[in-house]
Amino acid sequence: MNTLLSEQNLKCWTQVKDRLRAEVGEDIFSSWFARIELDNLENDTVSLSVPTRFLRSWIQSHYAEKVLACWQGVDTTIVRIDLTVRTAAIRQAVTVPVKPPEPVRPVLGSNGKSDGLGFRGINGSTPVGGSAHEALGGSPLDPRLNFDAFVVGRSNSLAHAAAMQVANARPGDQVMFNPLYIHAGVGLGKTHLLQAVTWAGNANGGNKVLYLTAEKFMYGFVSALRTQTALAFKEALRGIGVLVIDDLQFLQGKSTQAEFCHTLNALIDAGRQVVIASDRPPSDLESLDDRVRSRLAGGLVVEMGGLGEELRFDILKARVMAARAHHPTFDVPLPVLAYIAKTVTHNGRDLEGALNRLLAHNKLTGHAVTLEMAEREVRDLIRPQEPKRVKIEDIQRIVARQYNVSRSDLLSSRRTANVVRPRQVAMYLAKTLTLRSLPEIGRRFGGRDHTTVLHAVRKIEGLVGADVTLAEEIEGLKRQLQE
Ligand code: ADP
Ligand code: MG
Repeated sequence: MNTLLSEQNLKCWTQVKDRLRAEVGEDIFSSWFARIELDNLENDTVSLSVPTRFLRSWIQSHYAEKVLACWQGVDTTIVRIDLTVRTAAIRQAVTVPVKPPEPVRPVLGSNGKSDGLGFRGINGSTPVGGSAHEALGGSPLDPRLNFDAFVVGRSNSLAHAAAMQVANARPGDQVMFNPLYIHAGVGLGKTHLLQAVTWAGNANGGNKVLYLTAEKFMYGFVSALRTQTALAFKEALRGIGVLVIDDLQFLQGKSTQAEFCHTLNALIDAGRQVVIASDRPPSDLESLDDRVRSRLAGGLVVEMGGLGEELRFDILKARVMAARAHHPTFDVPLPVLAYIAKTVTHNGRDLEGALNRLLAHNKLTGHAVTLEMAEREVRDLIRPQEPKRVKIEDIQRIVARQYNVSRSDLLSSRRTANVVRPRQVAMYLAKTLTLRSLPEIGRRFGGRDHTTVLHAVRKIEGLVGADVTLAEEIEGLKRQLQE
């Protein structure tokens, strides 16, 4: 506390805090204002300080007017509030004495996965579906990845609804969309949703669900299908109502794909449900042949977008609640959650990582979780915004719009100048903004040869050096695509 402040000033400050508390309520007050201090009061300006930059920016953006109004209610001469971050030196002086550490409980589970924030009290992976799942070589499931723990927000509500629908279907029900194909970037909840379907389906006496990673499908399932020696396997397969395949983008090899195609057709034709997750839409699955691709696109294709800040916040809140089942003393103040939700934007895995660190720190040192601690602990998880996944379809759409041609012009064999240049630009963007190979890009541009794509890429590369207008156009297109 600043000793230069008069008794009178301090009394004002107490009144202001009381007003503020009455206005925002005790919870918000203690979350955001408990550690605000009056440093100075001179003429018409009040100087306040908080311990961290984040608190400062939050108060500034959410409560600046309220704080000023409360001051003016007490002292009408005030017109300005300065809010600063207390320096480390001052902060050190007010550091609370260190408590002896609490007994340490392991934060890492035996399977190497963190169970620090486990949703449930179960460790490790438990096969489900009894013998069917085992006999068919189902991939291990994580018991934490269930529907209860899945937080629904704008970006995933359609995928969630479709997944629920599949999980709740009863044997013999009409299949509504087949396959259900969910795609999203890394860490946005695909595996979580697929495993939730598997748990739920197998638990509620509904359709038996078999969950396979593409890898398992390739190395276990397919070979078993081929040999078909084990009678148990055939028996079990007959009992499966839903086949779930995760990370389809990893499915490789011609013969595996043929087998996959065969399985897919057989299951769909028999009215069994197929659910698939991948990091890209069916049209971008390079190595699959056209028939499989169109079969995949023929069901319901749903994209899950990035986790917005609100969803991230809700996920964090749910995680902390779950963690408290194991660690009752673990408490993360709301401002810390808000800070993580705001800054750790990457994906669900980093959110989990951030909370695990706070938990570890809290358990290992016995220090309460504070904003300062959070800022220190999660610093390296704050990455620049992940560049958006750009799809070839979007490139074609946006380039066509820019140059006033149609998308089918771009894919056509027409060679008039007004189509050739936009087509080259689109191919160039496809090469520079996506990870697609030249042959794949050629295929997506009306079945052109990869040398044609290469030529287009070189052509545009050569032109942008000399042609400022074109260079600017391309910059503009890139910006639009990555927005
Ligand atoms: P993907 O398979 O898409 O790469 P995961 O399903 O493995 O991503 O999700 C990564 C992490 O983020 C997991 O810990 C998962 O539980 C969490 N997560 C992602 N989305 C959600 C959500 N909507 N609700 C709760 N947790 C989520
Ligand atoms: Mg996954």
